Amino acid sequence: MPSEPLVAQHVLEFPGGYTRTTGPVIGRFLTELRAGRIVGVRTAEGRVLVPPLEYDPATGDSVTDEYVEVGPAGTVTTCAWVTQPRETHPLDRPFAWALIRLDGADTALVHAVDAGNPKALRPGARVWPVWRQERTGSITDISHFVPEVTRIVSPVRTEYRLQVGGALKTFLEGVERGVFLGGRCASCDKVYVPYRLSCPQCGSVIAEQVELPDTGTIATFAINNLPDPRAPEVPFVSAYILLDGADIPMIALVGGVPAHEVRQGMRVRADWVPESERTPSMANIRWFAPTGEPDREL
Ligand SMILES: [Zn+2]
Repeated sequence: MPSEPLVAQHVLEFPGGYTRTTGPVIGRFLTELRAGRIVGVRTAEGRVLVPPLEYDPATGDSVTDEYVEVGPAGTVTTCAWVTQPRETHPLDRPFAWALIRLDGADTALVHAVDAGNPKALRPGARVWPVWRQERTGSITDISHFVPEVTRIVSPVRTEYRLQVGGALKTFLEGVERGVFLGGRCASCDKVYVPYRLSCPQCGSVIAEQVELPDTGTIATFAINNLPDPRAPEVPFVSAYILLDGADIPMIALVGGVPAHEVRQGMRVRADWVPESERTPSMANIRWFAPTGEPDREL
């Protein structure tokens, strides 16, 4: 007849704590921690052991009685990521156990590093201790370590008040009405948009204003992966668009089409904001969207 295995649960616990003496070396280390300092001990060979030991593990010789303050910062020599911290762990969120060689030490100390995510910590990373407010003379007087500050996010905002010249004013007033105004040079017969008062090619005064349609062809474009407040999403496309009848392209956003489908020669039309929302500014054009017509070679 098969017999059931006998099982008994045992718990080894010292309620109130197990009191032990530290000895002079560890005692000094813990006393210094309580004072907010980290010390190591120098070996007969001159190396600095942190945490300090009574005997040099390399030679077995007694260490000297010279204590050396190290750190407080150090370099991670190796680390292991803890995805699910246990109740007794020093942090209640994912963290790393790391071997940290404090500045001035020849050996590494194990401690927790609050790095946010595993990618933020690798061997060679610089870390600094976070001390507890109330220190008692324990390794946990250092709550944990954190990566060195290597970047900051600072808010940036600049406001411009732009006084437009005569030609740009004319152009933007056209945009408010929903038309693109260009200028034709009488000497070289080129049409420039936005409207301008002199020809950039021959220098002649431009007298003739021409109204251009809001359709055109993408001459060249760029896919942008950094967000822009004017763009619908990331990635977005900015393009040089040659309006029908113009001789130089103008820059605008392209929308209504996935970025990877945008191509040179694609036919596009301006997507205007409702007439009631228009102002004399380029904000009247959300972007240019494909018309669906066959591509045009430029
Ligand atoms: Zn000209």
